[in-house]
Amino acid sequence: DVLIDEELHFNALLLSEHTLTGLENAGFRAPSPIQLKAIPIGKCGFDLIIKAKSGTGKTAVFSIIALELINTKKNVVQVLVLAPAREIAVQIETVLQTLGASYEGLCVRSFIGGLPFDQDVKNLNKCHIAVGAPGRVRHLIESGALKTNAIKLLVLDEADKLVGSDMKFDINYISKKLPSEKQVIASSATYSEDDYKYLETMMSGPTLVEPTTHTPLLLGLKQYVSVVKSNRNVVHQLNIKNDELLRLLSHITFSQSLVFTNYQTRAESISNILNRKGWNSTYMSGQQSQPERLKAIKSFQQGNCRVLLSTDVSARGIDVENVDLVINYDVPLEPYTYLHRLGRAGRFGSHGICITIAAHGKELNEYQAILGKIGGSNMFVPQLPNT
Ligand code: ADP
Ligand code: MG
Repeated sequence: DVLIDEELHFNALLLSEHTLTGLENAGFRAPSPIQLKAIPIGKCGFDLIIKAKSGTGKTAVFSIIALELINTKKNVVQVLVLAPAREIAVQIETVLQTLGASYEGLCVRSFIGGLPFDQDVKNLNKCHIAVGAPGRVRHLIESGALKTNAIKLLVLDEADKLVGSDMKFDINYISKKLPSEKQVIASSATYSEDDYKYLETMMSGPTLVEPTTHTPLLLGLKQYVSVVKSNRNVVHQLNIKNDELLRLLSHITFSQSLVFTNYQTRAESISNILNRKGWNSTYMSGQQSQPERLKAIKSFQQGNCRVLLSTDVSARGIDVENVDLVINYDVPLEPYTYLHRLGRAGRFGSHGICITIAAHGKELNEYQAILGKIGGSNMFVPQLPNT
């Protein structure tokens, strides 16, 4: 798996220096999963239907593709981005300006029907990337102020809203006025069957790009290791780890926590210990019947308990929105498993935390080996600050 063997960095996407500088200034260090997947395909000129949850960084996907194809020496609109709401258009304009800041002479403008028409017409002089709401953009095209003959890329952000409402008449008009040899990119979290059909009429053989389910969500997530000292005695090690787990749960502010262990029997016994100490917890293990497991997930999803103990196998497929703290009670055996566990801690942009409890010595070495495989030599996970 590419994501595991290779270090995640925008460098890997073969972007221009200007774009890389823009990304650095924006504070974007590593590409999000959808960025990693969609940017290379989009940069090759293919039509894309991007489907990824909100907050996963779709704006930067089409912004980067747009920036990479602009010729700033030609003072003419080359990219048109349409968005269903003014605020979204302005946000996109800002992202493009930030990421494009080191492209000399680049001009990005939004056309949202807020300014007087004459002002928009003036702003179109020297504009390379126009971002707009469909109504105003249509008027600008109809009036002849917006020249469309040099447009190489059309982006439909929140595409389901654009083509699933009355705005589709404007979209249709605009699309027909653009050169037929253009790239089209649609971006949204959801599409209806009709949306796909409609979009396909505007595109040529589009590629559907979605993050794969096993794509780790590494961004926006803080990873820590908590090293505990223990002798080689298993019972001693468990006692020390239980103390550490209790300490972590009571010192960290979290909404819900998923605690992973490598052993089915441990899930149950740790859950019992937590309950005795006043934590409302439950557990899932492969030994449980299906109804028992469902009951545990439900209780957790409904917020009746805050801590769920689980092994990797039984946790597969659970999706709990409120989990913002993942604790590895045991160091997982595989890098892949570690990434799976990490991915449970909060969605992109939220402040999820993943803490691995590792016993000093063999277990800590194993953990470091896993980190090495995931992130190369640069992967560094700090020791949890003392709380
Ligand atoms: P979407 O359109 O998919 O809902 P956005 O493009 O609005 O998501 O991005 C969500 C947030 O994530 C924004 O605040 C954005 O600045 C941030 N973001 C996007 N890509 C990255 C990245 N590679 N690294 C860090 N933050 C990012
Ligand atoms: Mg968006």
